[in-house]
Amino acid sequence: MRRESEIVAPSGGDIIAPMRQDLDRILIDRDRIRTRVEEIGREITATYSDDLGGLVIVPVLAGSIIFVADLIRTLPFKMKISVMTVSRYRGATTTGGATQFLQDLSHDIRDRHVLIVDDILDSGTTLRMVTAQLQERLPASLRTCVLLRKTAKAPKDLTADFVGFDIEDSFVVGYGLDYDGHYRNLPDIAVLRPELYE
Ligand code: 5GP
Ligand code: MG
Repeated sequence: MRRESEIVAPSGGDIIAPMRQDLDRILIDRDRIRTRVEEIGREITATYSDDLGGLVIVPVLAGSIIFVADLIRTLPFKMKISVMTVSRYRGATTTGGATQFLQDLSHDIRDRHVLIVDDILDSGTTLRMVTAQLQERLPASLRTCVLLRKTAKAPKDLTADFVGFDIEDSFVVGYGLDYDGHYRNLPDIAVLRPELYE
């Protein structure tokens, strides 16, 4: 593991220390994440440069919280944030569970340019459902941005407009991603030790 003690909490503690024993390895460290988030920010800025009026960012909670917080602070234009909460894994790490909508958007998106931001594109079920729901509300345009894409399972007919990293098919946590509610505050993206959920 690299640089694990570098982010020190204001209280003086090492942020990773309480979680280290549960991690197999760091897959993408905080420096690579930051560099890539800035690049995606530039791609998004270029894409919307003609349509900046009325852009609505729709973070799919809760996994995208850290990503979207960092991403929107690289975007130099006015925007609204309208969150949507879905739940896919109810504590487990398998893809068996159904996607549930837990909370709907707080804004009307009709005639708005909408960018959905999610954490991972895995089987695609979540993104497909969210996209279909929002499309019915007649936005001016609808695009998608995901931090991670698992290339093993991502369907051929569904892709995101902006992708942070293509990753292997391992269960990852950190940078907003959880296992059973934990590890979201880990600054890096890490592979969880499989013994914890097998
Ligand atoms: P899909 O519907 O594409 O199969 O799954 C996407 C959702 O499942 C993601 O938005 C994410 O919430 C969750 N997910 C998929 N893979 C992982 C993973 O490796 N770690 C975590 N924490 N969540 C995952
Ligand atoms: Mg999700």
